[in-house]
Parts: sequence; structure tokens; C-alpha cells
Amino acid sequence: MNTGAKVFIADGISKVYTMGDINVHALRDISLTIESGEYLAIMGPSGSGKSTLMHIMGCLDRPTSGSMYLRGQDINSLSDAELAEIRNAEIGFVFQNFNLLPSMSILANVEMPLLYAGVPARERRMRATTTLGIVGLADRLQHKPSELSGGQRQRASIARAMVNRPAILLADEPTGNLDTATGEEIMGLFAELNAKGNTIIVVTHERAVAERASRIVHIRDGCIEHVETRAHDKSGGTGWEAVEG
Ligand code: ADP
Ligand code: MG
Repeated sequence: MNTGAKVFIADGISKVYTMGDINVHALRDISLTIESGEYLAIMGPSGSGKSTLMHIMGCLDRPTSGSMYLRGQDINSLSDAELAEIRNAEIGFVFQNFNLLPSMSILANVEMPLLYAGVPARERRMRATTTLGIVGLADRLQHKPSELSGGQRQRASIARAMVNRPAILLADEPTGNLDTATGEEIMGLFAELNAKGNTIIVVTHERAVAERASRIVHIRDGCIEHVETRAHDKSGGTGWEAVEG
């Protein structure tokens, strides 16, 4: 299989969580290819396996069976240390609940991934400051997360996800804790990042958020139910049409 040009290839992946003597089939035989620079949305009801899929794509977890390739590398062939290194270099995560460390300033929060990557202190400070400027928080550097609004916290967590310049951003319900207007602002930021060439994958419950993407994958009970892709009609408008997964 030529896997090089694709960001992700999921090839028949399944994930089973074992809790005592109960097996939970979170994903069943998912196959999905994501191109470099793509903007993909994943929709599905609660419990359908969206976060599990994101965690596997983000190298936070491994499939029980099947293969997940990240830029051509089968993640099951990598050690935990190699996986952590790839994750830190290639992938930025944005979570619904922001996952910022409450005792630290947002500047220190955004410096964290650079600390893990071994970037020297002065450069850490410079790059974190610049990135917080890009997301519109230049005047909030020393604030703690609790001193910021929900939208500002999500901007800080996007800065943390971007600061290592990863080519891939994974966002799990990034607007779930935000009001509509603030959610729109955050989605505008993702659109800008995608226009700059970043690959973006967003999990969402909301149709309007998903429609920012160029392809929508619907999952249910751990399976891909159907896939829609943006279609341009002759009058210049856009609609959505079902395609083969
Ligand atoms: P979603 O993000 O779509 O709500 P999840 O991927 O979180 O769905 O969960 C899919 C299924 O796997 C659910 O039935 C959930 O209870 C189960 N699950 C998720 N994570 C774990 C875990 N760490 N241990 C056991 N079961 C889990
Ligand atoms: Mg989830």
C-alpha cells in the first residue's frame, strides 16, 4: 500500500475496551483515509466512538486490531516512546474542556509542549508569546485560565496545540462549552489555520460546525454510517452529497 502522501490511513481498525468481564466495542472495522491539508468533521451521537477514534489518530491510544498509519508509519509498530515523540511533533490537540493547567499562566501553559520538545527557555517564551498573539491573547499572557472567559481559554488551548507547529490539529468538540458567537470565532480560527495548509479534524455534535469542513464522516455504534462531501452546484452555492466511505 502506498501510504506516504496521506496524513492518516485507518485500515479496518477496531477498538475493544475490556472492563472486568465486559467487552465494549468502541470501534468496529473503521477504514478512512485523510489527505494532507484536508478539513474533516466527524459527527455521531454520544458513545458512538468519536473520541476513541480521535485518540487513536492522535497517537494517544492504539487500535485493538487493524492498522493506523500516520504519514505512512504504522503506529502499532512504534514503541510508546516513539509514539509520544511523533505525537508531540506532528499533532496538536484541542479539547472541549480546554485541559489547561489551572495553577499556571496561559503563557506557561502554551510553553509546555516546547518544554517537552527540548526547546530552550528563551525560544520557548518567544514562540509561546507569538502564538498567543496570533490567537488574540497578546494582552493576557500572565493571566491564569480561571481569569479568562471560555472563548479566551479555548484560544489559549489552540495556541498550545499550535505552538509546536504541528501539521495536524485534532479538536474534540472544541465549541461544546462555548456560546454560539464564541464558537463561531473559534471555528473561524480553524478555517484560517486550514487555509494555511494545516490538516484539521473536528469532532462535533453541531451540523453548523461540521459544515465548515469539506467532508463529514458520520459514525454510529463504532461504525462509519455514511460520508458526505461538499458539492458545488452551477449557481455557485454549496450543498452536501453522500459518497462512498
Ligand atoms: P463519543 O466520543 O462518541 O461519545 P467514546 O469514544 O468516548 O464515544 O466512547 C465509545 C464507547 O466506548 C462508549 O460505549 C464508551 O463508554 C466506551 N469507552 C470509551 N472510553 C473507554 C474506556 N477508557 N474504558 C472503557 N470504555 C470506554
Ligand atoms: Mg467524545
